[in-house]
Amino acid sequence: MSPETLEEFQQGVRSWIDENLPADLRVGNRKDLPGDSLGKWIKAVASKGWVTPQWPTEYGGGGLDRKQAAILMKELKAVRAPIISSFGTSMLGPTLLELGTDEQKQEFLPAISRHEVKWCQGYSEPGAGSDLASLQTRAVKEGDEYVITGQKIWTTGADKADWIFCLVRTDPDAPKHEGITFILFPMHQDGVEVSPLTLIDGSAEFSQVFFNGARAKANHVVGPVNGGWTVAKRLLQHERTTDGGSEGGITGALKENLTDIVKREIGLKDGILADPTLRQRLAAQELEARALSLTMRRAGEELRSGQVGRDIGSLGKYRWANMVKNEQDLAMAAMGAQGLGWSGPGFEDTQLERTRAWLTTRADSIWGGTNEVQMNVIAKRVLKMPE
Ligand SMILES: Cc1cc2nc3c(=O)[nH]c(=O)nc-3n(C[C@H](O)[C@H](O)[C@H](O)COP(=O)(O)OP(=O)(O)OC[C@H]3O[C@@H](n4cnc5c(N)ncnc54)[C@H](O)[C@@H]3O)c2cc1C
Repeated sequence: MSPETLEEFQQGVRSWIDENLPADLRVGNRKDLPGDSLGKWIKAVASKGWVTPQWPTEYGGGGLDRKQAAILMKELKAVRAPIISSFGTSMLGPTLLELGTDEQKQEFLPAISRHEVKWCQGYSEPGAGSDLASLQTRAVKEGDEYVITGQKIWTTGADKADWIFCLVRTDPDAPKHEGITFILFPMHQDGVEVSPLTLIDGSAEFSQVFFNGARAKANHVVGPVNGGWTVAKRLLQHERTTDGGSEGGITGALKENLTDIVKREIGLKDGILADPTLRQRLAAQELEARALSLTMRRAGEELRSGQVGRDIGSLGKYRWANMVKNEQDLAMAAMGAQGLGWSGPGFEDTQLERTRAWLTTRADSIWGGTNEVQMNVIAKRVLKMPE
């Protein structure tokens, strides 16, 4: 039998999506998707290995090559299918594939591929954000376990997470980058307390997490004990590449796209947007989105051919954060006073949604490393400028 061509693969993907994607999910990654439909969709996608399309099939992945995975993503986006992604698929999984032991891969990756186990990221602490290596959460070895004491903050999804990948200090006397260990442990145990924090947009998606004698198995250390800084940085590169490379973020999940909302709010004159300043801003926004998409495609090629290092992801994260913030600023400018509503009958759903999105995107230049930190990385490690 001759091997499947890319065209045949694409046809197969289209037919499969047609058969399996319910009509009520063809609206993008909205937060209010119907639970029953979403559950069935996740199971169907997982059964193909397409939650993690490029992972090896032995870990529940789809075993697709890069071109096939790109086709799959294109077809899913074309019909606004919800894209299944998590801290497990985009950050921990790729890191374990590179740096985990065989036992760790067998234990953790298949459940991530089935989207069954939720993970959260225990990096930041009250005194350690941009200066992450100053973290103080302690882990002390007792037999074949570590006992963990300390506090994390801004931990997204901690209240719903089953497991945490966490940075802990295992050697307090070593230079700060050299006494850190990357370790995995369950959230549902005595000694872990989660306290949600409310954000400016009204959601409470992240928490403070307190460890008071929480326990982790010693064989759940990823990489060397006291050598966790390298693992931590590698995971951050995956996090930044995912953000910068993803198109849309919250924007892709909104009910009304930017052009439509600006047209509706401002109106047309002689067939074009009535306000020349907003017209120019809208065009600039569209150009920026296309330029970023092309730049990240080029960066991906250069990365694969070894012309650039993995820190190129910081460029994407930095430009992407600015782009999504600018988009919401533009929508707010078009809405005027109608952009100032929190709730109530004087505002349309699409206006309220945009106002919340504007507030939500304020955080996009902070999480995963602030814009200033990304610029430092770009200067030092991409452009190789002197310290
Ligand atoms: C929505 C959201 C979700 C998050 N989710 C998680 C999560 O799941 N897990 C997790 O561990 N963390 C998470 N974080 C935390 C995030 O990683 C930190 O907020 C971020 O790294 C900045 O740290 P900080 O808040 O302590 O700010 P600081 O580090 O105190 O920075 C304050 C200001 O100083 C600037 N600054 C600091 N150092 C420098 C420097 N060297 N050069 C130039 N400027 C500098 C910063 O850019 C910033 O403007 C999340 C944050 C947000 C907003």
